[in-house]
Amino acid sequence: MAGAIGRLTGWIAAVKGDLGRPGGPGLVQYLAVSSGFTIVYLILEWLTRVHELEASGITLWSPVKALSLALLLLRGMAYVPALFLALLLSDILVYAVPKGPGSLVVTNLAVALGYAGLASLLARGFNFSIKRADLRNVIALLFTVPAGTFIIASIFCGLLVLFGNLPASTWWEAVTRLWVGDTVGIIILLPVAMAAFSWAQRPIEARPRVILLNSTIFLIGVSVALWLIFSIEEADDYQFFYLLFLPASWAAMRGGFAGAAAGVCVVHLALLASITWNYPASTFMSYQLLVLALAFNGLLLGAVVDERQRSDGLLRRQHAEVARMTRHAAAGAMGVSLAHQISQPLSNVAMYLHVSRQLLTASPAQPEQVASSIDKATSQLRHAKEILERLRDFVSRGTLQPAPVDLGALARKVAALAEDDARAQGVSVRLDLASAPVAVVDALQLEQVLINLINNAIDAAAESGQPPGSVMVRVAKADHRARIEVEDNGPGMSDLVADRLFEPFVTTKQDGMGLGLALSRELINAHGGTINWATAGPNGGTRFVIDLPLDPEVARGP
Ligand code: ADP
Repeated sequence: MAGAIGRLTGWIAAVKGDLGRPGGPGLVQYLAVSSGFTIVYLILEWLTRVHELEASGITLWSPVKALSLALLLLRGMAYVPALFLALLLSDILVYAVPKGPGSLVVTNLAVALGYAGLASLLARGFNFSIKRADLRNVIALLFTVPAGTFIIASIFCGLLVLFGNLPASTWWEAVTRLWVGDTVGIIILLPVAMAAFSWAQRPIEARPRVILLNSTIFLIGVSVALWLIFSIEEADDYQFFYLLFLPASWAAMRGGFAGAAAGVCVVHLALLASITWNYPASTFMSYQLLVLALAFNGLLLGAVVDERQRSDGLLRRQHAEVARMTRHAAAGAMGVSLAHQISQPLSNVAMYLHVSRQLLTASPAQPEQVASSIDKATSQLRHAKEILERLRDFVSRGTLQPAPVDLGALARKVAALAEDDARAQGVSVRLDLASAPVAVVDALQLEQVLINLINNAIDAAAESGQPPGSVMVRVAKADHRARIEVEDNGPGMSDLVADRLFEPFVTTKQDGMGLGLALSRELINAHGGTINWATAGPNGGTRFVIDLPLDPEVARGP
């Protein structure tokens, strides 16, 4: 008793605190909500006075408990006195239970405090919110409420026995009835409120639609099941109850938690309409328990369906994000690759201009050589510009500008471009172009590919030291295809990169960008060709092999 009084003073302090708190309810609002709640509570209690246990106020269906819990969860503990008042008035006005004033106050206070405890356990212990309908929340509700209502029912009925309002022999029956009535009341109705809140919070386009077909199938299922349960004379009372699980599960699967909450509520109301007055309390209680099982099943299934949809949505969003990031990375890679491609002609320009300047200041003046050096710089600039334009075309439209190209001449040109670099590294570049064919290709793009391969081969061959580095470039015709091979006698492919060679940013070089081969493969694939590599010989070395259709149009067919 001392504990209860202590708690009561605690609640009074909480009420005062809540009322005085900035942002808390003003007194007028508090009184309006409290009296509105009390009126609705009394009307609802009067409407649902089903199978009352001997003038005790204990019934087998108590939706007011859902209303009470919702009030405390939404409005806070300040409304515990409002609940207490509603309970008290209901005992006096609705049930007219023959209790003394002491029993009236103490028993109803116990229930009000019990529901306050249940609400705060849900809210603080399980982070439950009536405004969310996720799986965690649903599980918290489904397992906390039956336990909480059982404890409250036990205490309440114990107090009734203590005050002489209930024979001790009926304590257990009273507890079970109260427990079933309160639990069913909450478990059926609170999810409807949860579903309504989460429905209202969703953007209009994301709200689940009540699809006519699904609702019709559900209602037909419920009607058929009820008809089988109650109309077949030979069937005993519960024989066909399991059939109600079918429409309830259908509602959950099609409409998620909202569908399940609405479906279970409809099934429950339909059952109530069928059994409330025609059946004795014992049958009614069994049906209520079956409804509870139905609600557990439907609501959990609905919440799982929602969760699944949520995680599917999350997965879709993550995929879209990955795709977006990949596009960004590809764009970035292309930018870096561009810099990679044009840095060579630009440094050539710088070198030719430097030479020109020296020639200008030299005496005697050498105007022809100056002009030739400036011409070379101009040609390199034109080359850089062409690279930019061609890569831009490739990226934006993915188009090639194919034309018949003498592959032998192309290989010779690239080898000549690499000559200086090769010599500086002590590597010789040899050519085998005897049977080089003419192929329809984009000359500039293929040139870029060959530059990449030959530069890589020179780098690798330079590493070998002994014997002297050498690179062999072969171009030949094989069937209706052209085959280009670039082979070196370097140390061979590093195991670190061998598997991912053609992926962007894969490199073993300190100043490498790992884009040359990735881009080369893009370009060769765009020509309808293939590029592969193999170990060249017993002493290492690497051979890159490009296979190209002689004419991509012919290769693709009409
Ligand atoms: P980068 O040259 O900037 O590293 P690439 O895409 O052209 O980028 O090459 C990727 C990697 O492949 C190189 O870092 C190197 O490890 C390896 N590689 C390419 N060609 C050869 C070769 N001929 N011999 C050995 N390794 C090679």
